[in-house]
Amino acid sequence: MQTALRPNDAPVATTERLYDVGDMPPPGVVPRRMHAWTVRAESFGEPHAAFALEVVDTPQLGPYDVLVYVMAAGVNYNNVWAALGVPINVIAARNKQGEPEAFHIGGSDASGIVYAAGSAVSNVKPGDEVVIHCGMWDEECAWVRDGGDPMYSPSFRIWGYESNYGSFAQFTRVQAHQCMPKPRHLSWEQAASYSLVGATAYRMLHGWGRHEIKANDVVLIWGGAGGLGSMGIQIARAAGAIPIAVVSGKAKFEFCESLGAKGCIDRTEFDHWGMLPHWKDAHGYAQWLKGVRAFGARIWDILGERRSPSLVFEHPGETTMPTSMFVCDTGGMVVICAGTTGYNATVDLRYTWMRQKRLQGSHFANDEQSYAMNHLAMSGKLDPCMSKAVPFAELPHVHQLMHDNRHPHGNMAVLIGAREFGSGVHDRSPVVRELRPVPSFNAANRAPRSRYPWSAPMPEVIRQLGANSAVVEDDGTAVRELMTEAIVSCAPADTVHTAATLMAVHRINAVVVMQNAEATGVISQTDVVLARQGRSREEAQSLPVSEVMSDGCVTCDVDALLSDAVTTMSRLKIHRLVVTRTEGSRAVPVGLLSMTDVVRKLML
Ligand code: NAP
Repeated sequence: MQTALRPNDAPVATTERLYDVGDMPPPGVVPRRMHAWTVRAESFGEPHAAFALEVVDTPQLGPYDVLVYVMAAGVNYNNVWAALGVPINVIAARNKQGEPEAFHIGGSDASGIVYAAGSAVSNVKPGDEVVIHCGMWDEECAWVRDGGDPMYSPSFRIWGYESNYGSFAQFTRVQAHQCMPKPRHLSWEQAASYSLVGATAYRMLHGWGRHEIKANDVVLIWGGAGGLGSMGIQIARAAGAIPIAVVSGKAKFEFCESLGAKGCIDRTEFDHWGMLPHWKDAHGYAQWLKGVRAFGARIWDILGERRSPSLVFEHPGETTMPTSMFVCDTGGMVVICAGTTGYNATVDLRYTWMRQKRLQGSHFANDEQSYAMNHLAMSGKLDPCMSKAVPFAELPHVHQLMHDNRHPHGNMAVLIGAREFGSGVHDRSPVVRELRPVPSFNAANRAPRSRYPWSAPMPEVIRQLGANSAVVEDDGTAVRELMTEAIVSCAPADTVHTAATLMAVHRINAVVVMQNAEATGVISQTDVVLARQGRSREEAQSLPVSEVMSDGCVTCDVDALLSDAVTTMSRLKIHRLVVTRTEGSRAVPVGLLSMTDVVRKLML
């Protein structure tokens, strides 16, 4: 062994031993050769045949570089393109820029462990668990050094597509700023699956000045069940906006709605797709108008009002662009990051200038946007939607599935260093906190089992109930000290399956049911279990939440005494209270207090 790569703060040695995939070298030891899936120009074509297994040299590091041992790699459309060799030959493009390798190691998403770092690296060190975003640029570029958005730097490249040594190998070479903390509650394969699409969707929705998404905006999301779309729905919801998803087939509705889509449109019910008929073709144009108007009306049906999307989240391109530009609201924006169905997008310019619509191109994301997206993932607000993970050997197969549009919902990943599915989880999933306004206490109805029964502070409530003494002793503990600071919600029209999925994903006992920005009830695990009585699993799953939930929610203020809260729950024979904080004249729900929380305090 000899010392080779320049480490940050740990000695790094190379070894001649070739490790098997899944056989992890000791920390600080880097094999000189590694296993990788490669693509070569002579094999360009459909992914199942274009990828080949090879043993290649492990890449060397520059001062700003980091060598990451890849635990899992994400699957993206870009390496379907790389395998096909269209629209560009990525190997020839790199060779022209002076990089000599005749092979391409793709892979623009990864989770892994830092093994070595260049001399100028200070943000990560060997042993750190990271997820990697795929934006690369020259740190010495004058534009970047002067604070310009690196996305506009001529040196910008997508790692693992425009760069070599992506994540489809045992080790990958990245720039240090690409490394972001791995969310502790995610497995290696989940963590590997979301960064590229998540950060791209984040910039599309948050990156464009006055068109940045905000609460109550309507957003139309194409391909809502796909990689980008599933991220787009969740990022829009996290901003309080109203996403509507377009998908092919009703089977994808529930998935999109569980992520936060207000409703879905099945694009297979329409046939006005493709390039716009010429405006002089009166018959063709009238037919197209009929189709696009019917499509727009479907958006209004979902919203229950005549509002158009202020943002349209585009990536299919040629077949959908005329529709996107038409349904976009006056003064709104169509933001596009791809042309999966073709690049000759046609637009009726009359609508564009008269309605002052913006067509905005968007490409991946800068550090700030990538980290903001990763923060959503770390706080549990962005589910990676990792629906399929496969062993290393099946990497070409999952790219072929994507090529054929036969891949499952959401995102896919490939295990590389990780030996088992589901490994790498260190923590419980954080509970999502979603703040929504509810009416003021004063406007509330006092009758039990109505929406907001308690218009008075808790002690007053207890007096009304005739309680003279508290059920538990008042030791000064306030509700805020024990409550779970989170509201996970669903709508009355959601299915019981959606509610049960939320419970399972967030490991919670109950979901608050919200309608028109008001909490109208709670659906608990008990409610879900009772829904199975006398019904098949499928029947119970498809019931609307409104038929199963407990109507009304009893609230208490975050500063109420725990003893008062427990007394109220005992008197009413309920297991939980919705905790609110008064903001101006409104009581905003901020969490739940359950008897389980109280048991922890009293008994454990
Ligand atoms: P994906 O998971 O395959 O999703 C694409 C979705 O598009 C599919 O789920 C499909 O949904 C929908 N679709 C397919 N054909 C369509 C058609 N004719 N009309 C309308 N919708 C159609 O892929 P992805 O990962 O989301 O990526 C989508 C595209 O964005 C790819 O071309 C990718 O290369 C590109 N991309 C670009 C960037 C960037 O930074 N520029 C970043 C990420 C991805 P339904 O069949 O359900 O409608």
